[in-house]
Amino acid sequence: MVKIVQKDDAILRHTAHAVPVHDITSTHIKKIISDMKKALHSQEDGVAIAAPQIGESLRIFVVADKAFAIMKNKESDLEAPVSDFSDMVFINPNIKKLSRKKAWLEEGCLSVRYLYGMVERSEKATVEAYNEKGEKFTYGASGLLAQIFQHETDHLNGVLFIDKAKDIKDAPPEDK
Ligand code: ZN
Repeated sequence: MVKIVQKDDAILRHTAHAVPVHDITSTHIKKIISDMKKALHSQEDGVAIAAPQIGESLRIFVVADKAFAIMKNKESDLEAPVSDFSDMVFINPNIKKLSRKKAWLEEGCLSVRYLYGMVERSEKATVEAYNEKGEKFTYGASGLLAQIFQHETDHLNGVLFIDKAKDIKDAPPEDK
């Protein structure tokens, strides 16, 4: 099992390093991405993970298939199975645009067990990144995905949601 580091680990406070574009398809980076997916899918409530969360100070985050299913099912009455979606990898992500309109949203983190709090996030976000093949793309999103883009980019800059959250509460699974 791939270990997810917890909030007092110094690596979560570092500014992560960009991945040289010619290294994106290397065995080394492929292994890190594969480990990130394993760690993410080991957590029932995991919707995304950043590389520093598995101890790698690199600018990579992965959004789980589940997050896309949640988004899709919000706009439709038909429940699409999670298997209709794939994990999506964002390498060297750069937020290009954030909506001025913001909302306070509940947030938690796989590295901050088991705290939850309200964080003010832009409702829409556009991110530019490289995919696993080393191709550049742009992705604009709202709702949960926009929130994820902001939370994960914060991780790459050494920021945790508890730094900006209000009404933080501790809610271990047995209390839920
Ligand atoms: Zn997190």
